[in-house]
Formats: sequence, C-alpha cells, structure tokens
Amino acid sequence: MVNKMRTLTEPFKIKMVEPLKVTTEEYRIEALKKAGYNTFLLSSKDVFIDLLTDSGTGAMSDRQWSGIMMGDESYAGARSWEHLETVVKDLTGMPYILPTHQGRAAERILYSILGGKDKIFISNTHFDTTRANIEYTGAKAIDIVCEEGKDNQIDLPFKGNIDLFKLKELIQEYGKENIACIIMTVTNNSSGGQPVSMENVREVRKICDEHNLLLVLDACRIAENSYFIHHREHGFSERTFKSIAQEMLGLADAFVMSAKKDGLVNMGGLLTLRDEELSVKCKNMLIISEGFTTYGGLSGRDMEALAIGLEEVFDEDYLHYRIRSTAYLGEHLKAKGIPVVWPIGGHAVYIDAKKLYKNIPVNQYPGQALVCDLYIKGGIRCVEVGSVMFGKYDEKGELIPAPNELVRLAIPRRVYTQSHIDYVLDIFDDILEMEDANTGYKITYEPPFLRHFTAHFEPIK
Ligand SMILES: *Cc1c(COP(=O)(O)O)cnc(C)c1O
Repeated sequence: MVNKMRTLTEPFKIKMVEPLKVTTEEYRIEALKKAGYNTFLLSSKDVFIDLLTDSGTGAMSDRQWSGIMMGDESYAGARSWEHLETVVKDLTGMPYILPTHQGRAAERILYSILGGKDKIFISNTHFDTTRANIEYTGAKAIDIVCEEGKDNQIDLPFKGNIDLFKLKELIQEYGKENIACIIMTVTNNSSGGQPVSMENVREVRKICDEHNLLLVLDACRIAENSYFIHHREHGFSERTFKSIAQEMLGLADAFVMSAKKDGLVNMGGLLTLRDEELSVKCKNMLIISEGFTTYGGLSGRDMEALAIGLEEVFDEDYLHYRIRSTAYLGEHLKAKGIPVVWPIGGHAVYIDAKKLYKNIPVNQYPGQALVCDLYIKGGIRCVEVGSVMFGKYDEKGELIPAPNELVRLAIPRRVYTQSHIDYVLDIFDDILEMEDANTGYKITYEPPFLRHFTAHFEPIK
C-alpha cells in the first residue's frame, strides 16, 4: 500500500519564502545543552523543522493576506466583523457569535459562567486548557473516552468517541442538576487527534435532550474531523466537508473554537451560542475581559483573515492534502518499524518511545531522549507527551509514570512540503542506526506546575 502511493503534491505554490538556517550536529548539541535539553527553551532560529505544535503555526493564503490589508479597524460594527459573523453564522447555524483572542479565552468566559464549586463537566477528553479553566472555577472535569480510544494500536475509525454507556451512568450518579455541560472535543486532541463520529454526537444529543443538558462542541479541528466522517462513516461519502461540519454543529448548543487550528490563522478564537440568556452573560464577560462584542480580542484584519480561513479550510484539495500528508509521515514511519500510535490522527503523529527506546527505563524519560535525539540528529523540534508532561511523584519521591511515553510530531498547516517530511523520515533512519547508543535523562530543575515547559534535564552518562 505505502509503496504504491503517488507523490503527495501540495495543492498550492509558494509566493513568499522564509529562510531556514542549516546547522551542524555540533552546533545543535551546544544549542540543546544551553536550552537545558528542553526543546521549549530552544530559540526557533536554531530549529530546522518545527513540529512542536500545529497551533497558530500555519501559513495564510494570498487571499488571507489581502484580507489583512482590507481589515476594517473601526471600534464597533466593523465590516470585517460583519464578514466574520456572516461566515460563522452560516457554519454553525447559531445566532450569537462572540470573537475572542484565542480558544482558552472563549473557554474561560463560558466555563466560568457554567462552572463553580460542585459542578461536573463530562467530555470524551478535556483538552488541558479546558480542564484548567473548569478546575479553576472549583468544578470537576471527567474524561470518558470510549474503550477503543485507550488502545493505541487497534485499527478503528472513530477512536475519539465518548463512552455513551459511561455518560448515562455518570448522569445518574451525579444527578443532572449538578452537571454543567457535556463537552465533545472534535477531533479528540489529547487522545491523539482521533476523530469523533456523527453517530456518537447524535447519541450524545439525544442523552442531553432526555436530561435537559447543554452540549458544547470544543471543535477547533472540525474540518479535519469532517474529512474523516466523509471517508469513514456510512452515509457521508457524497456529502461536502462543510455540510458535515454544519450538521455536527447543528447538534450542539454552543461551540468553542481555537481559530489557531482549522481557522487557518495565527491568532484568534470563537464562542458561539444558541441560547439568548446565556449569550447575554457571556457578552458581559467578553466586554470586561476581551473587548467590545464586535471585536473580542481581535483586530479587524485578524477577523478578516479568519473569515477567509474558515472558508478555505473546507476546500476539498486542501483537506485531502492535510490529512493525507499527516498520514504519509505516520505510514512511512510505521513501514520503517517505528512504533506509532495507530491509526494516524488528523494533526499529528505520535511515536511510542517506550517501545522504540526499550533500553531506557521509564524513570529516565525515553520520550525526552527521543525528542533530544531528533533535535541533535536533524534539527527537528517536537514534544514529549509522557512522564515529563504527566508524571507525578509518590511520597518517597519516586516517579509515578504516565500511562504512555509518547512523542508528538505535530504538523503545521500548509508550511512544510513533502521533501521536508521526507527529510524527517530520513532522520529516523539515523535514530534507528543509533541502536543502544542513546541515553536516558534526569530532571535537574522543575517548577511545581506544568513542568514540561520549563524543566531542565541532563543526559545520564
Ligand atoms: C488548542 C486547543 C484549545 C485552546 O486554544 P488556544 O487557542 O490555544 O487557547 C482548546 N481546545 C482544544 C481541543 C485545542 O486543541
């Protein structure tokens, strides 16, 4: 299968270029040492291929850049706002549209109103900023991804789904009056970018109707999810990607979006609502903390670029290239014998570092070791999603490891070409050739919270 694949050509040509610095292995060894062996602390000028995140790292089109020039910077009722509002109303079918500076601002507004002490939020998987905004209000966030979603090898189409049986059980257990809302994360970011089926969201809608509960879509990758539904779910192969997204959004009461993903912009967010009373409360919060209701935290040009991005993202050729190019990297890594999380999700490829670096024990952070090796060998920047990010300590100070030791290669939108990706694949040959020459790492400094961002490491000699 893999060998027969045609060259995956980008459905765009390049009009502006940003030079990349070509560095030597010696240079990178020094740079990484100075950064305390933490890729978050590297200077981007020392990175050749940056796969740290797909958030806000995409390239805008010529149409979006023209939109930037056309942006209307009026304080209230700007043309660019009206353009964005029209596009988002058409997409969501919701009457109340609130712009915000990024996704977590929309989350803070909505969840500070719905949350509070003793409230329960239930999701397929809460994204980390979502969980943080919920827990900050004193509420509890419960993840119930389906059983298949916990197996990182089983080949099934919709491993991002929520467990419907557990959802019903939790509603019984906590009582519907204590449940703030149900949040469907689409695609399921923290669960490997795995898609959610339309059937699953329809079933959640039914359960919400039975118990009079609010259904929120945290759906910053809804276009990517629509691609998977079109290709994998019965009855959708004739449907456009946009109409699939419209149908799913039609099932929800509210939509939270980080526009830094499928909005195809570098900064921006949205909160959209069906209920007037809730929208009034949210608008009041928006004015206090983000800005007037017709700009949120955004300038007119940002809103113009977002309005255009939200239409471009549903382009058939774009979405095909997007999903297939992520899969191309994952499938070719698998063919080389690199253990990857399967099937490949929409925005990233995850490598099982515990399986790849069998010689490094979990308390020496095999994921971090691979992250460092990829930078040293190829100038590739990526992130550990394992015990550095999620590990805890017991009373004796021994590591309680995370369930998995993964490394994430996130793919920015429209930024790298197939030859860049082929280069990444070549670097993995060097990784395989290292065999047992790699070393584990120890943490030499760590802050009390979110340690992966600023921790320092040292190789264990
Ligand atoms: C990125 C993301 C967010 C947060 O958005 P920001 O724009 O980074 O604030 C929320 N939910 C999901 C699923 C995300 O992927």
